[in-house]
Parts: sequence; C-alpha cells; structure tokens
Amino acid sequence: MLNIARSVHGPLVGARSVASLFPAGAGALHGVRAAAIVGAYAGAVAVNRSRRARAARKRKRRMDGVEHDLSDEQWAALKAAWGGCAYCGAVDRPLQRDCVLALSRGGRYTLDNIAPACGTCNASKCNAEVTGWLRRKRLDERAFLLRHLEIKAALATGLGSPS
Ligand SMILES: [Zn+2]
Repeated sequence: MLNIARSVHGPLVGARSVASLFPAGAGALHGVRAAAIVGAYAGAVAVNRSRRARAARKRKRRMDGVEHDLSDEQWAALKAAWGGCAYCGAVDRPLQRDCVLALSRGGRYTLDNIAPACGTCNASKCNAEVTGWLRRKRLDERAFLLRHLEIKAALATGLGSPS
C-alpha cells in the first residue's frame, strides 16, 4: 500500500525507456508496436489506479445497490416546488439533484430524498450530514427541514410516490 504513489509512475518511466531502445528510423515497426503496447498498458494502469476511477467505481457500486426512482416529472415538480436552490435559495443558477441524506449515508435517489441544489451548495455539502452542514454554512436549517417536509408531503400526494 505504501508504494502506490510511487508505482503509479512506474509504467510511464517504463514507456520512456522502452521507446529509447527503438530510436526513430531503426526498427521503426518494432518501435511503434512496442510503444503502442507499453502506452496502452501505461494508460490502463494510470486509469485503473487513479483516485477518480476508484471513486467512480465505488459510486457505481453504491448506485447499483440502491433504489433510483426519481422520474423526470418528479424532478420538474421538485424544482418548481422549491423555486430555486433548496439550501441557499439561489434562483439564477442551474439546479442539480442533491441527495438530502447522502448515498454514502444510506440515502436513496428518490423523490423524498432529493432536493434541488445549486452547484456551489451541492459541491460544498457533498457527503456531509445535512443539518450539520447547514449550520456550518449559517444557512436556515429549520426553514429547510420544514420546507423539505412540506414539499415531500405535497408531492407524495400530488404525484404519487412509486414506493
Ligand atoms: Zn445553493
């Protein structure tokens, strides 16, 4: 585990040293083939080992394991009901689907757990627990929770909760 950071760069150094064994002009075919193989290997290793790829795979596993039943109609209704970012109230920015209870905390991607959030709030809240995060950001925790409950109730009867 301690060698991960170092070994990420291994294949790149390898690619360079293999390429130097096949200078342009001499054995060009072999050089090209070797460089392609090493390059593909280095690329695959770099992608597999990158933190982003690991996070994406982890997220996919998590998403595959939970129920996702927010329809386009429900999302449109949620945005209309909130009329802006559910957290800061911004009305001039594109809204993203934020899981009030983060997926990593067992939340589901469903009508009663989604709130529209501006990019800033969504990125800032990330996987944080919502009430603690609202308090830290000095946002109105009480107003959010009340509104969230009201909208949940209104949409559950108006649109019919699939679950
Ligand atoms: Zn916001």
